[in-house]
Amino acid sequence: MRGLRKRYGDVDAVNGVDLDVRQGEVFALLGPNGAGKSTAVEILEGHRRRTAGEVSVLGADPARAGRDWRARIGIVPQTSAENPQLTVREMVRHFASYYPRPRDPDEVIEAVGLAEQAGRRVGRLSGGQRRRVDVALGIIGDPELLFLDEPTTGFDPDARRRFWELIQGLAHDGTTILLTTHYLDEAEALADRVGVIAAGRMLAVDTPARLGGRATATARVSWRDPDGPRHIDTASPTQVVAELSAKFGGEVPELAVTRPSLEDVYLEMIGAVR
Ligand code: ADP
Repeated sequence: MRGLRKRYGDVDAVNGVDLDVRQGEVFALLGPNGAGKSTAVEILEGHRRRTAGEVSVLGADPARAGRDWRARIGIVPQTSAENPQLTVREMVRHFASYYPRPRDPDEVIEAVGLAEQAGRRVGRLSGGQRRRVDVALGIIGDPELLFLDEPTTGFDPDARRRFWELIQGLAHDGTTILLTTHYLDEAEALADRVGVIAAGRMLAVDTPARLGGRATATARVSWRDPDGPRHIDTASPTQVVAELSAKFGGEVPELAVTRPSLEDVYLEMIGAVR
C-alpha cells in the first residue's frame, strides 16, 4: 500500500500508510484499539473501500478484484459465522465447495489438530477448538495469503503454543500471513517483521528483535554477589560479563543480560503519540 487513507466523517482512521509485505512472510500488525488496524486489513481483503492511496494484493486492486483473486486469499476474522449444528467435518467440507481448488478437508482437519473432533458438532467444541475450525475454514481454499485477525484471544497458554505451531507450519509451507494481535509475545514468536500503527499512522516497521532499536539498546547485566542482587546498565555488556567472570573466577551467580522487551519498546512508541 502507498499513501493509504480512510476517512470516516471527520475521523482519519488510516492516515497515509505505506507498507510492503513480502511473499512468504509472516507480518504482524500491532497497535492499540482504534489505531486503524481492522480498517487497513479490511481494505486489503476487499471488504472496505479506501478514501485514497494505492493498494495491490497478489497483484490486484482488492477494490476491483473478482472471484479468482478471492479464492487465492484466506480470511480468519475476529468473529466467525459458524453453524453450531454442523460437525467439524461437515463445516469444513461445506466451505471447501466454495473454492475452485480446495485442500482435502480431512487433511486440513488433521493439520489444525481436530482429527479427533471431526465428527463432533461445532457448538460442542471449546473456544480454542472453535478457533481451530476458523483457521481450517480460512485455509481450506489453499490460500497464498492468509489474514488472521487476533487469532488467539481467549486462549490458554497451552492452546496458544499449539496454535502458534499450526501457524508456523503454514508459514513453513509458504503461506504469506498478515496477522493482527494484541499479544507482543505472539508477534515475537510468529512474525518475521512487525508494523506498529497508532492513530492511523505507521510508526515503525522492523523485525521484532530490532524494533525501536532494541538490538542496540542499553543492556542490563544482572547477577548475584554475596551482598545480594546487583545490576549494571551498559552499552557494552560483553565487557561487563568478562570482567564479572574474571572477578568470580568462572560462573557468575544468576547471570542475566537483558534488553528492553518488545512490549517495552511498543509501549514507549504508542505512548509518544497519545
Ligand atoms: P483497530 O482495528 O486498530 O482497533 P479500527 O480500524 O477498528 O481500529 O478503527 C480506527 C478508527 O476508525 C477508530 O477511531 C474507529 O472508531 C473508526 N471507525 C472504524 N470503523 C468505523 C465505521 N464503520 N464508521 C465510523 N468510524 C469507524
